[in-house]
Amino acid sequence: MKKIVVTGVAGFLGSHLAKDLIDQGHEVIGIDNLSSGKIKNIMELNKKKFTFINIDVCSDELLLNPQFNNIDEIYHLASLASPKYYQALPLETINVNTLGTINMLELAKQNRAKILFASTSEVYGDPEVSPQSETYKGNVNTWGPRACYDESKRLGEVYCYLYYSLFQVKVRVVRIFNTYSAGLANDDGRVISNFVTQALTGKDITVYGSGEQTRSFCYVTDTINGFKKMMENENATGEIINIGNPTEYTIIEIAHLVKKLTNSNSKIVFLPLPEDDPQQRKPNIQKAKRLLNWEPTVPIEEGLKLTIEMYKEKLGK
Ligand code: NAD
Ligand code: UDP
Repeated sequence: MKKIVVTGVAGFLGSHLAKDLIDQGHEVIGIDNLSSGKIKNIMELNKKKFTFINIDVCSDELLLNPQFNNIDEIYHLASLASPKYYQALPLETINVNTLGTINMLELAKQNRAKILFASTSEVYGDPEVSPQSETYKGNVNTWGPRACYDESKRLGEVYCYLYYSLFQVKVRVVRIFNTYSAGLANDDGRVISNFVTQALTGKDITVYGSGEQTRSFCYVTDTINGFKKMMENENATGEIINIGNPTEYTIIEIAHLVKKLTNSNSKIVFLPLPEDDPQQRKPNIQKAKRLLNWEPTVPIEEGLKLTIEMYKEKLGK
């Protein structure tokens, strides 16, 4: 049994990961300040194995708290993550990915623990190459609404690099590509939760721009398996690894697929494209295959069907 810290535990990926780790017999200490996460996401977790601490990961108090003695691993997932949230709280987003990441790296250093930092495909910005491999340096705008997220994740990666090279902290950085399941709150604002909620409630399906922009969607169980493989595998120490599903879709294709799978009469409507919205996104996952023997297994139709069934229950349909 390991003692594992999960930051961002009340969010979509954090709550899923914590449940998985507890089911495997580990003890989890979860941290969250509930800025976008919801307490109901962690209500069901086994109390004997799970402790929740409601605190900002940037807080100085964290490093003095004896509850964090003798930890083995840290999954640092805390961050505003949906464009809706990080654009509403841009300064908090910068803080959590920089000051919060330093705090977690210090905690890893104190405990000689392994740490995984949740970075993002957004570090590639609006990419000029496709697919994006870890060696691509990105095309990011510092002067726009996405900069707070993209650039603070990039700086978070720099801190990981420095703690690895200066202090030999066992870091690994995961660049996560769009992940989905019904674990996304209905009001999260990201595209799959919006489209499925709209289709099931008979509201208009809101495509931004022409819908010709692309994303590559990974089902949550695949992404979480990727995180765990990265943590377990010594090959991942000091590495940045893309975790995502390389099957690319246009957003309009996703709108039609959701409409078909939900049997919905909702209309597809077109709204203005948000500023700096990346035109394409598709991971190169050769490194994950080679170092971790990881690749996604859930095709989008299957993942969407599971998502739709679970959203139906949540919405009482
Ligand atoms: P989420 O918004 O559902 O969860 C993030 C959690 O972090 C929330 O519970 C929030 O309350 C918490 N949090 C935010 N700031 C905090 C702070 N200062 N102190 C403590 N807790 C704080 O998002 P998610 O989709 O679960 O994303 C988890 C991580 O993965 C994030 O770091 C995100 O940037 C990264 N990521 C996710 C995706 C994806 O598709 N889900 C893609 C790329 C990167
Ligand atoms: N999008 C959309 N309608 C929505 C929500 C999002 O067309 O209701 C588009 C958005 O403009 C982007 C893509 O879907 O091109 C993915 O958006 P999301 O917010 O899920 O994540 P991103 O990858 O942009 O961070």
